[in-house]
Amino acid sequence: MTSNLSLPIPYGKQNITTSDIESVVNVLTSSHLTQGSVHEEFENALAVHLQSQHAVVFNSATSALHIACLTLGLSEGDLLWTSPTTFVASSNCALYCGADIDFVDIDIETGLMSIVALEHKLVEAEKQGKLPKIVVPVHLAGTSCDMKSISLLAQKYNFKVIEDASHAIGGSFLQQPVGCCQFSDISVFSFHPVKIITTGEGGCLSTNSDAIASQAKLLRSHGITKSEIMFSNKSPGSWYYEQQFLGFNYRMSDINAALGLSQLSRLESIVKERHEINAYYQNNLDHPNLAFQRQETSTYSSLHLCIIRLVGHDSSPANHKFLFEGLRNSQILVQLHYLPVHLQPYYQSLGFKKGQFPNSEAFAQSALSIPIFPGLSKQQQDYICDKISDLTNQIYDH
Ligand SMILES: *Cc1c(COP(=O)(O)O)cnc(C)c1O
Repeated sequence: MTSNLSLPIPYGKQNITTSDIESVVNVLTSSHLTQGSVHEEFENALAVHLQSQHAVVFNSATSALHIACLTLGLSEGDLLWTSPTTFVASSNCALYCGADIDFVDIDIETGLMSIVALEHKLVEAEKQGKLPKIVVPVHLAGTSCDMKSISLLAQKYNFKVIEDASHAIGGSFLQQPVGCCQFSDISVFSFHPVKIITTGEGGCLSTNSDAIASQAKLLRSHGITKSEIMFSNKSPGSWYYEQQFLGFNYRMSDINAALGLSQLSRLESIVKERHEINAYYQNNLDHPNLAFQRQETSTYSSLHLCIIRLVGHDSSPANHKFLFEGLRNSQILVQLHYLPVHLQPYYQSLGFKKGQFPNSEAFAQSALSIPIFPGLSKQQQDYICDKISDLTNQIYDH
């Protein structure tokens, strides 16, 4: 084995350069570790990149989703809908606000919220007077949902839209960056180390609404304002501040922001390298029983994940398990994105049942995320292709 075939191979991994390290060290040796100017610089750079009016950074995407829901007025008695094929944070944010949650099934070829299922569910919900206040489409693997269709439905059925774009920075939809919010109220991104760019832990929301951005900034820091024009009372002196809402400590430190700022400058090349790896896989894993996530021509994915599925005859849960465990035994740390949220014990305790979202359940029994990240060597890519081909042949060609 050559030294470039380093095992085990994770499904995703951060990419840290010496300029990232310098950027963080500069903050560590400055006077402010947290609320200096660097998180604002990062916010400005994000807004430029996303082509939106405002970016507001948080200590995680989960915090950003929570605050996004609050700024749109989500509370007890309201409903939020999202896709079951996602990380639990996309739906937990509704429960934090005391609202109820429901799911819209996916299109099995894309793994994204099905527009047909969404429209059907809206028609039924309208009859019952149970329309959602917010819908959260999830851009699985960095591939944008059909935001144009979702925004037309949002106008017709009067709901708000938060894009869970945790996977999707660097992707685009109809030639515009995901996060420009042309078709949504808010977009949320994650900067967890396994995502496209990282701040250690962190996230942000993007919006074109001045009101949402300023409320989000208040809520991430206890609901406290120090700005005189916003005071309810007359200021008795320069020490004065007001808590006006029940907020949180969801701030991002300048240490984290410095890492994000440095990473953001490499975003384009990071996504390009992911596309090269994905193309290599597509050329070398040409098998009738292996399908890659379908990509519409309207989207350019950030390729946070490379999801392949076993399809056709013999695509049974047992064969899925055989492939999954065969790869793990070869030290290729494939992962499943995602176990459907409604099947989690906590969600079952809320009343969700197996069988309610069949495409999402079938997706989880056929999909696996294979390694994709900048720095994955050609030897590693070849090793992965060989193992997948071997195991697939053992399943199908006997
Ligand atoms: C990672 C992720 C989140 C949560 O991000 P954190 O920054 O870890 O809070 C939310 N939604 C999706 C789809 C994710 O993948």
